[in-house]
Amino acid sequence: MAETAIKEKRYADVIVEISHEKVDRAFQYIIPEALAGKVVPGVRVHVPFGTGNKDMTGYVVDLSEKSDYPPEKMKEIRCIDEKGTTLESDLIQTAYWMKSHYGSTMITALKTVLPVKQKLKQPERKKIIRCCGREEIERQIAECARKHQTAKVRVLNALLEEEILPYSLLREKLNVAAPTLSSLEKQGIIAIEKENYYRNPVRRIQAREAARELSGEQRFIIEDIMGEYRAGRPGTSLIHGITGSGKTEVYLGIIEQMTAMGKQAIMLIPEIALTYQTLLRFYKRFGDRVSVINSTLSMGEKYDQTERARRGELDVMIGPRSALFTPFPNLGVIIIDEEHENSYKSETMPKYHARETAIQIASLKGASVVLGSATPSLEAAYRAEKGEYRRYRLQKRLTGGMLPQVYTVDLREELKEGNRSIFSRKLKELMKQRLEAGEQSMLFLNRRGYAGFISCRACGHVMKCPHCDVSLSEHRNGMLVCHYCGHAEIRPELCPSCGSKYLLGFRAGTEQIEEAVHKELPGARVLRMDADSTRSKESYEKILSAFADGKADILVGTQMIVKGHDFPNVTLVGILAADLSLNQNDYRAGERTFQLLTQAAGRAGRGALPGEVVIQTYQPEHYSIVHAANQDYESFYQEEMIYRELLQYPPAAHMLAILVTSGEEERGSGVLEIFARMIKERFGDDGMLYLIGPAPAAVSKINDLYRHTLYLKHPDYERLVQIKDMLEAYNKEQDYKNLNVQFDFNPMNTY
Ligand code: ADP
Ligand code: ZN
Ligand code: ZN
Repeated sequence: MAETAIKEKRYADVIVEISHEKVDRAFQYIIPEALAGKVVPGVRVHVPFGTGNKDMTGYVVDLSEKSDYPPEKMKEIRCIDEKGTTLESDLIQTAYWMKSHYGSTMITALKTVLPVKQKLKQPERKKIIRCCGREEIERQIAECARKHQTAKVRVLNALLEEEILPYSLLREKLNVAAPTLSSLEKQGIIAIEKENYYRNPVRRIQAREAARELSGEQRFIIEDIMGEYRAGRPGTSLIHGITGSGKTEVYLGIIEQMTAMGKQAIMLIPEIALTYQTLLRFYKRFGDRVSVINSTLSMGEKYDQTERARRGELDVMIGPRSALFTPFPNLGVIIIDEEHENSYKSETMPKYHARETAIQIASLKGASVVLGSATPSLEAAYRAEKGEYRRYRLQKRLTGGMLPQVYTVDLREELKEGNRSIFSRKLKELMKQRLEAGEQSMLFLNRRGYAGFISCRACGHVMKCPHCDVSLSEHRNGMLVCHYCGHAEIRPELCPSCGSKYLLGFRAGTEQIEEAVHKELPGARVLRMDADSTRSKESYEKILSAFADGKADILVGTQMIVKGHDFPNVTLVGILAADLSLNQNDYRAGERTFQLLTQAAGRAGRGALPGEVVIQTYQPEHYSIVHAANQDYESFYQEEMIYRELLQYPPAAHMLAILVTSGEEERGSGVLEIFARMIKERFGDDGMLYLIGPAPAAVSKINDLYRHTLYLKHPDYERLVQIKDMLEAYNKEQDYKNLNVQFDFNPMNTY
């Protein structure tokens, strides 16, 4: 923040105890003239407190130009505490940056970064101890494999790696049922013991594993990143490499060098990819000095892990987005794997992105940031191209396995030839072959954004808004509506492009696909996975391990099946309706489609057998589909950037979505009309600001609350922040009842 801006702020909010419960108990003080510009969020100060004006230390959490009370009744800050910056200061500064950068109250921002303290009874835990030698375990594995006791095989394999395992790990991560474990206990192979477990979710026992021999490319990346770090230029790096190209090994190498220097590492992995196998690689390298935060931990357990980090008992914290706020005393690096994942953006206020926030935290602490992906987000690739990030490539797949052979099938041709089935003739033929060969197939339904859009089954024409280049949504009243600009038109009976009467919404779900498989291939064993069949994380892993164990020939699912697990026996991937996700009324549709198709195609042929992929589409010539079929990221990036530049979408420019929800329809749109007027009055003359809307949101009503949106685009992020600040100040004076305003910078989804 500019020095002058801070000098104008004459009042400071101070909290005397920094904890989750106390952040909303801030006290406002006057900043004395002598300290102007020095009192900033995060600074520790001495203040007079209570009736006796007792001297207390506290933290400045916010600044303002106006006072909440009559100034003559307020006290002054005494002085700045000279003890220098603390971990608390860093966290408060981060929260303040998030509040300013993304829009939210300071209290909400602080609650996002502060761990929740919760006094819990130490829970009683159980552990599993191996009671026989390795040879006996190996003999048992062979025996159980013969009897198809796959759960036992998983337990025994884990026990080959570790002599003692937490009970919960086996139950939750390996999906082993309690009777399986007691049966092994009765056989005398394991013992189940109680212990008063120190709430570290994972313990390790055996000697650490040494690093493997790295490839020249891997060594180069590690040395280059570490060389820059040692030279005082930590910066941000992007590692672009397909799955299996050795990125994780590079992360491990960087963390190893960091910890050898007494530094700590934060490793972000999307929750869905936090599998037992992945975690094991970290435990084997860094032993007890690794910890994991995920959504299955209780608040108390999370708090304990945070405290261990603060005390210097940990070197590595692994977890999803929220692990960013681990208070390490000497943070060296933040690594973000699968950097392009949507889950790195928070869906609640403050709507922060982990990538940007990581870079902010790293700059505060002098740490490096390393991003990794097989399909980097347009944002990351763009920053790398601009020279803001260093960029590295890993081109080869280290586990062998060739890139699959890809066939693109034009569904319009199929219809012309009289094939009305969900499956093209090519896909049907290959599925049959696989079934006969005893190999596995995956059928992936790209169902993103199937809400409402309509297209022509004969020519593939999609009904689009004439102003916005996004698809129109079908409403019940027979209208087609654009959710970006509000344009509405009557739904035509016939396709405007070819005159066909097959102008329809697409409704096939995974259930229909499963039925179709049964009809076409009566002998096939099918597993199905979608949001409905996997309400819990446990059932998600259960279905995947059943498929990995060969309990089905075909796995049918939505985007969930393209992540995580490796299935070496899968040699065919069918992508049904590849272009469905292109028709979302959302500027990221092309990018998302490319990522999904690339990932889905990459699922075929991971093992020794070569793979084939069938992409079924109405738009075989669309660049997202063409380049995904060729696994050609560069060409995709070039074309997609032209589109973003042309329409000033991120990352070419920045976007701010303002969402207003209200119980009364008129009020929501009315408030946005006022916003639009204010914005135009104050910022409208610079020629670079675009306003889109106000319009009803894509989902225009949730729980009887009406939703309206206003979108803004501008090349300068700071300009959008100024607009947000202006509106926040205005809203504070309005003191709305039954009306809520949310800001979302560079949104991932359409509202
Ligand atoms: P990614 O994170 O890019 O998917 P990984 O680091 O997981 O890649 O590596 C993929 C596979 O290749 C893993 O099984 C890993 O053990 C193996 N691997 C990684 N680096 C090497 C290497 N230098 N030599 C041999 N195998 C390697
Ligand atoms: Zn429109
Ligand atoms: Zn048509």
